[in-house]
Amino acid sequence: MPGDVVLEVKDLHTYFFNRRGITKAVDGVSFTLREGETLGIVGESGCGKTMTARSLLRIIPRPAARIVSGEVILDGENLVTMSDEEMRQVRGSKIAMIFQDPQTSLNPVFTIGNQVIEALGTHEGGRNRNLFDRAVDALRSVRVAAPERRMHDFPHQMSGGMKQRVLGAIAIGSAPRVIIADEPTTALDATIQLQYLRLLKDIQEETGMAIIFITHDFGIVARMCDSVAVMYAGRVVERGDVRQLFNDPGHPYTQALMASVPQMERTDRLFAIDGQPPALYAIGNQVIEALGTHEGGRNRNLFDRAVDALRSVRVAAPERRMHDFPHQMSGGMKQRVLGAIAIGSAPRVIIADEPTTALDATIQLQYLRLLKDIQEETGMAIIFITHDFGIVARMCDSVAVMYAGRVVERGDVRQLFNDPGHPYTQALMASVPQMERTDRLFAIDGQPPALYALPDGCRFADRCGHARDICHQEYPQPGEAAEGHVAHCWMLHKVWQDAVPVTAEAG
Ligand code: SF4
Repeated sequence: MPGDVVLEVKDLHTYFFNRRGITKAVDGVSFTLREGETLGIVGESGCGKTMTARSLLRIIPRPAARIVSGEVILDGENLVTMSDEEMRQVRGSKIAMIFQDPQTSLNPVFTIGNQVIEALGTHEGGRNRNLFDRAVDALRSVRVAAPERRMHDFPHQMSGGMKQRVLGAIAIGSAPRVIIADEPTTALDATIQLQYLRLLKDIQEETGMAIIFITHDFGIVARMCDSVAVMYAGRVVERGDVRQLFNDPGHPYTQALMASVPQMERTDRLFAIDGQPPALYAIGNQVIEALGTHEGGRNRNLFDRAVDALRSVRVAAPERRMHDFPHQMSGGMKQRVLGAIAIGSAPRVIIADEPTTALDATIQLQYLRLLKDIQEETGMAIIFITHDFGIVARMCDSVAVMYAGRVVERGDVRQLFNDPGHPYTQALMASVPQMERTDRLFAIDGQPPALYALPDGCRFADRCGHARDICHQEYPQPGEAAEGHVAHCWMLHKVWQDAVPVTAEAG
């Protein structure tokens, strides 16, 4: 049974400000949450539910977005008026969020253990010296088998369900009073989804934490929640006890949503309602908004410019697609729209951060070709951030290899791939069976150092088969492997000839 009130949200308003006006993403949201209670926030994409959650944690995209009024009272304290530093203490330790997508929420270059330890360490301000044990406990609490061993795994070595558990461990590890789970099971298949939901319920029973579920899925709400708030266009249009509201929805929007779910026990997706919400989130609006922000309203005919931008990324019938919502488009098409938003104002440099991870192989290839074509037409420069050496080989002129926060090698892509100078790059290259394949990397023994405990010397030294004393003592100067090809490794310097092998000293 839910207990005392732990969270009270009063008339919360979060607005986005841009040159074209104000977008009221959260427009007067109020609700209360008790200990041990699970509240579902439901509604279509763009209704403001995720922005409500982000406002509670104060992780909205500033300065474009601002909480303009309202209160978020957690255990008697108003989070809206806290300083950033106070909020950092609260975030994660008293109120935490489980994000949608484990693929992007976990950092692929750090072990699971490092990531859980880092999260616990941040929240606990280093109070608890035995963070390793605490991290193992957190993994155990989300039913990760053999947690000591899994601490050393990297995200790509885990299944989707297991990664989602790790995100749960990160959120739950500091025993927060409130967990916000934003579509936490979207990426999981149905059986794993069910397991994960049961697990959250069990942990809730053990700890008494309150949960806010953000979801499109009325099946999840029926299974998991005590109460529900239905959002539409930035507002809560109806809220109440979950059974009561499902049996007798009062608002026409809730009635329409309910009618679009064939059976309450099933987990079919929604969005079968005709027409569109009035929110400013149609594809066209989003492209226009991006163009308008960049162009300072110079160009009065933004609609035509947005259509052109969609056409430039080969969206068929762009005038018609302007009125579509993201959920009406395939993954590949959505990726193109993101491309149109980025490319629409003809920037000089585009940064593409793993832009094709969510796409299947053929669509990925199409999209990469498209970017290359646009680059040839416009002359823009591209920075590709990727794990995938196949993409680098296909797309890039030059490459910079990063390790533990630093570029350890850079140069012309063919030269560097043919003759890598840094042992880390060599190990990476050796772990790619063929350059044309897109297997994930990082099968090298050991782990990168934690970024909060970096050594003075070479950051790769603990994993490097060539390491000598000097490697542990001093960070390597850049050395020239070939013309225009630089690696940070002592082996490329004259000093290497005199360096003492570690084994010689040990012996
Ligand atoms: S500097 Fe030493 S430890 Fe670092 S990569 Fe080069 S040989 Fe290995």
